[in-house]
Amino acid sequence: MGHDIPLAVPSLTGREAEYLQECVASGFVSSVGPFVTRFEETFATRVGAAHAVACASGTAALHLAMVTLGVGPGDTVAVSDLTFVASANAVHYTGAQPVLVDSEPRTWNLDSALLHDWCVAEAAAGRPLPAAIEAVHVLGQPADVEPLLALRDRFGIPLVEDAAEALGAGYREGPVAGHQVGTVGALGCFSFNGNKIITAGGGGMVVTDDEDQARRVRHLSTQAKLPGLGYHHDEVGFNHRMTNLSAAVGLAQLEQLDAFLARKRAIAATYDAALADLAEVTLPPRVGWADPSSWLYSILLPDQGTRDRVLTALVDDGIGARPLWAPVSSHRPYRDAPRVGGEVARDLADRGLSLPCSVTISDDELAIVVAAVRAALARA
Ligand SMILES: *Cc1c(COP(=O)(O)O)cnc(C)c1O
Repeated sequence: MGHDIPLAVPSLTGREAEYLQECVASGFVSSVGPFVTRFEETFATRVGAAHAVACASGTAALHLAMVTLGVGPGDTVAVSDLTFVASANAVHYTGAQPVLVDSEPRTWNLDSALLHDWCVAEAAAGRPLPAAIEAVHVLGQPADVEPLLALRDRFGIPLVEDAAEALGAGYREGPVAGHQVGTVGALGCFSFNGNKIITAGGGGMVVTDDEDQARRVRHLSTQAKLPGLGYHHDEVGFNHRMTNLSAAVGLAQLEQLDAFLARKRAIAATYDAALADLAEVTLPPRVGWADPSSWLYSILLPDQGTRDRVLTALVDDGIGARPLWAPVSSHRPYRDAPRVGGEVARDLADRGLSLPCSVTISDDELAIVVAAVRAALARA
């Protein structure tokens, strides 16, 4: 019959157009302007960080975080194997080598206990440890940071959070109870790509409580240009700043964040209830000690063949289902990257299926998706 239900598209019904018109009227459309500052300040307050620096993309935010920590050639950085490739690319841009860490079934995030024990064994053997750990909060589910903070305290390995998918998620219990994701590590990175929880058209943010590091991120993002009228640069910087146009959209979106999160969580609860009785379906991970952002709703099916048959049936029906990402270690540039752990990430990637979950999706459309999953499974 052919529906038209996309995977994750933005809702732009707040003050986006009004703020964009203000940009045009004021002439501030580029990388300086009042909306950049307003977006940064409002964002920092919202996530509970002292400083926020707006960037051209989430990838740029991660890249700046790595450079700010001094990551470079000869270093390794531990990254989740199961993530969007940008997490690893940001490490690669610095000349460092990603070490790809397997997932844990409990949260689908990098197995931080495994990484902890691996680092302890590497140190005991006299081998060099990663220069940083980049923990991705995969699909908006907070990672178990306790073993990673132990590594920071014991070996001084800084933690960077790739919170691109996890704006609004946070910890309930444990050593960082009350913290939102992105404010646990030395630096936290967010994305405002079109499919994320809020969008700026494109954009990202680095947050930190460390004023010196915030200053350094900002400096590196603006070609490392020194203040003053002359064009003087004290190191090789980047053009990674956000424009005022993007910040106008981002700020208007941020004003709606609570409503977006409420809808994302309601969508997840609706799918959970509607799919719970299907023996073939494993629902997304839930833990008692953290609240996810519920950015993307992804389930596991019994095997890759079933997943592919259900995926094809949904897509043929106009339903924007997608597989989970292939693991980073399966992409050509990363095939020889060192790996820690076994085959959990590959198994999740083989069996994972993401279902439409835009904040604009209607309850009728959710029912259509559920019916299509049930019908496809009955045939699969
Ligand atoms: C989207 C995403 C990024 C990259 O953000 P962009 O704004 O698209 O550059 C990085 N990491 C993860 C986990 C993402 O989902």
